[in-house]
Amino acid sequence: MNNTQSTDLVFELSHSGRRCHRLPACDVPSSSAVADLLPADHRAATAPPLPEVGEIDLIRHYTNLSTRNMSIDTNFYPLGSCTMKYNPKRHERLAALPGFADLHPLQDDATTQGMLELLYEMQQFLAEISGLPAVSLQPAAGAQGELAALLVAAAYFRDRGETHRKKVLVPDSAHGTNPASAALAGFEAVTVKSTAKGFVDLDDLRAKLGPDTAVFMITNPNTLGLFEPQIKTITDLLHAAGGLVYLDGANMNAILGITRPGDFGADMQHYNVHKTFTGPHGGGGPGSGPIAVRDFLAPYLPAPVVVMDGDCYRLDHDRPKSIGRVRSFFGNVGILFRGYCYIRTLGPDGLKAVSETAVLNANYLRARVKEAFDVPHAGPCMHEFVASARNLLRERKIKAMDVCKRLLDYGFHAPTVYFPLVVSEALMMEPTETESMETLDAFADALLTIKGEDAEVLRTAPHAHIISRPDEVKAAKEPILRWAAPAHPEPLPSSRRPTIGSPADAP
Ligand SMILES: *Cc1c(COP(=O)(O)O)cnc(C)c1O
Repeated sequence: MNNTQSTDLVFELSHSGRRCHRLPACDVPSSSAVADLLPADHRAATAPPLPEVGEIDLIRHYTNLSTRNMSIDTNFYPLGSCTMKYNPKRHERLAALPGFADLHPLQDDATTQGMLELLYEMQQFLAEISGLPAVSLQPAAGAQGELAALLVAAAYFRDRGETHRKKVLVPDSAHGTNPASAALAGFEAVTVKSTAKGFVDLDDLRAKLGPDTAVFMITNPNTLGLFEPQIKTITDLLHAAGGLVYLDGANMNAILGITRPGDFGADMQHYNVHKTFTGPHGGGGPGSGPIAVRDFLAPYLPAPVVVMDGDCYRLDHDRPKSIGRVRSFFGNVGILFRGYCYIRTLGPDGLKAVSETAVLNANYLRARVKEAFDVPHAGPCMHEFVASARNLLRERKIKAMDVCKRLLDYGFHAPTVYFPLVVSEALMMEPTETESMETLDAFADALLTIKGEDAEVLRTAPHAHIISRPDEVKAAKEPILRWAAPAHPEPLPSSRRPTIGSPADAP
């Protein structure tokens, strides 16, 4: 939403009798024989309770609604960890080609060779980028990828008779989905502390690591935007203890073509195709969270996977050790398709340039934001960094949330707020590689201005928006997403009751 638009919200536009169309009068004779086809008591006494509006009001209603949300196509969107990068429109054009868009998931493999080839190649690209050779494209989100990979790990340990491995270790800076996935997969999540510098506390890790450890889940670069310098030591420790290392791949945008999780010791990872590889996302979907694993874990991957047989591709369902399906059909093919286009367009050098530019942009923004806010961890950062509004809170009782809300008035989406939990009053910023220096400067200037603004203005922000401070939990749990008819529609005058074959219901 931009700050030039009017803030008055007239939602109820319906006026009795208004229509978007004018149909010619019905010329079917209204003989009793026709009317009798549907007995009178089966006919509604009231018209269906639909809004009645003219076409221009209808178009303005939806067009105006569509501009009242922030989106990557309308506003800078520095939402840390979520990688809100530009979604190239070319991908939409290609994904809409009828040969892809009109496929039905129940079609025979012989008739979907083009799509299967593309998905097969996508498996290979993701294996190459991660350094982990076996890929499942099925999971529909990063969180589902975490769950699928942990189920793979559980199946692997069961196969080895190591069912005593019940614990999944998770750093305290991790995304909330990590411990949640561990619990859903039947493990017990155990928190590992971070050091003051923001890295894994190796003493705490050693203390918690043991014969009951199944997996260590690590995000690298971590959610503070820091690359873990001890990563090789950590993965060696895990392997020496017989455990596996899971890499939360949400931050792949920092390391594409520069380093590979498989090379620094991860055994499994997920991708967020909707983040790193430009799938349009927001509001909870659509997502795609493929996983890549080492060879010895391949038999347990969700089935089916795409395999090549001679010159043909097919879905292989015959995988006796597979954990089974984790999603209907084959995964979120539309998002995988866009990711495929992105990878093919850029190639290896282009992907590396993406990460280099993302890191450069983040460090530039970090240097500018430091003029206004605390940035608790030493730089340089990777593709994102975490600032803190704790000084503002201490000195002027202004919270990180107030800063975020005020940013909306300046036409910027807020950064991720209050995450990661290890930083108080956290403002986590990820500019991505697609933003210009002018945009980054304008955002930093807005933050500097906000810092000096009147406290009451900040506490009551935003001021230029239709909705100011909703109850966010209620908005998420009880959203009202559609128009509801008035409870008691007025009965239609008898002259407007629909009768078969009569022109009376034509406007
Ligand atoms: C986004 C994210 C996830 C979860 O991914 P979804 O696709 O939203 O399910 C997990 N970990 C981190 C660090 C993330 O940023």
